[in-house]
Amino acid sequence: MKEIILIKNGELVLKGLNRRTFEDIMIKNIKRKLSSLGGFDISRAQSTIVITPKDSDFDMDEATERVGTVFGISAYSRAAVCEKDMESIKEVAREYLADALNGVSTFKVEAKRSDKKFPLKSPEICMEIGGVLLEAFPHLSVDVHNPQQIVTVEIRDRDAYIRAGQLRGAGGMPVSSAGRAAIMISGGIDSPVAAYLMARRGLELNAIHFASPPYTSPRAELKVRQLLEKVARYSGTIRLGIVPFTEIQEEIAKNCPEEYFTLIMRRMMLRIAQRLAKERGCGALITGESLGQVASQTLPALAVTDTLAEMPVLRPLIGMDKEDIIAVSRKIDTFEISIQPYEDCCTVFTPKHPRTRPTIEQCEKAEGPLDIEALIERAVAATEYSYID
Ligand code: ATP
Ligand code: MG
Repeated sequence: MKEIILIKNGELVLKGLNRRTFEDIMIKNIKRKLSSLGGFDISRAQSTIVITPKDSDFDMDEATERVGTVFGISAYSRAAVCEKDMESIKEVAREYLADALNGVSTFKVEAKRSDKKFPLKSPEICMEIGGVLLEAFPHLSVDVHNPQQIVTVEIRDRDAYIRAGQLRGAGGMPVSSAGRAAIMISGGIDSPVAAYLMARRGLELNAIHFASPPYTSPRAELKVRQLLEKVARYSGTIRLGIVPFTEIQEEIAKNCPEEYFTLIMRRMMLRIAQRLAKERGCGALITGESLGQVASQTLPALAVTDTLAEMPVLRPLIGMDKEDIIAVSRKIDTFEISIQPYEDCCTVFTPKHPRTRPTIEQCEKAEGPLDIEALIERAVAATEYSYID
């Protein structure tokens, strides 16, 4: 039996004339994600995209799972393809739907007829297929209002498709349809979630991580890579830049008042991140900040970094509770990695009494002794790049 994957577009159906462009990007993303699984055709008809395997060893289970991670898709399902006559449809329905129907007690049949020349009308198709399934699976009964399983028969131009139910897609907009941005990734719970959420809004991701060896261990870096691998399942390949931050932190510790350590460090991170982001054609930075979560995430603290920003700083978690953030991190499978206890560069030089109501003038004065430009240039020049996918 020939099986295919049917994909329904999400929000991009609202895009009017631009829809085709968005769809093209999404199809390219699907192709990229499935290319390692073997040969397949991809075609579109109205708001449905159809994936048809060409090789017999094409791994449909893995393909279906990967389709579930492509942004821009609202729903998807596997379906059996058969000839457009009622006898074939009945035979394939009996065989193909056995697994889906054996686990439930109620069902209903829906028919979609895009080929208006097909001799039976939709209600007649439903009646006939419903009858056949009731006979083949005597434990079933029909429930048109609240069925446990919906069987759909679609009569298309060339073939008929038969499927049971459909899965919810990853939603959002196709990656790269909104441009490119750089996620500032730590090893914590928040930043991978922020990365995921912005990729879901159509951004292609670069990542920037600040490491302070020997204060931070190679394990912390490994953790960041593992987190990005999880995000890349959705976003596709991520270019990661690891910025050596030890010298800067030591200089801050040596020359600046302790209560400003975190704020000055964050200002240095922002300056460097935006320089790297610009070099890579990124239109924004992304952080995992959430209002009030820690001393450096109060409004005045955010202001002293924002004032340096020459591009939008996206903070998708700003209004989220920790519990909501954790729920997303569990969903994308980053939580267990995030809670491993490797030191982050932020925690190494944490002041005992951080300023929660700093002013920009105070910060500028506090960082006065630093040779900011030289420090930035050395860090940028020593940044090491790799690709995560
Ligand atoms: P997270 O859970 O993402 O670590 P957090 O709640 O621990 O966030 P902070 O440590 O104050 O908060 O960091 C706030 C944000 O700053 C992070 O979400 C991340 O975007 C960025 N950030 C922090 N540390 C680093 C780092 N070492 N490298 C790159 N970005 C960082
Ligand atoms: Mg952190």
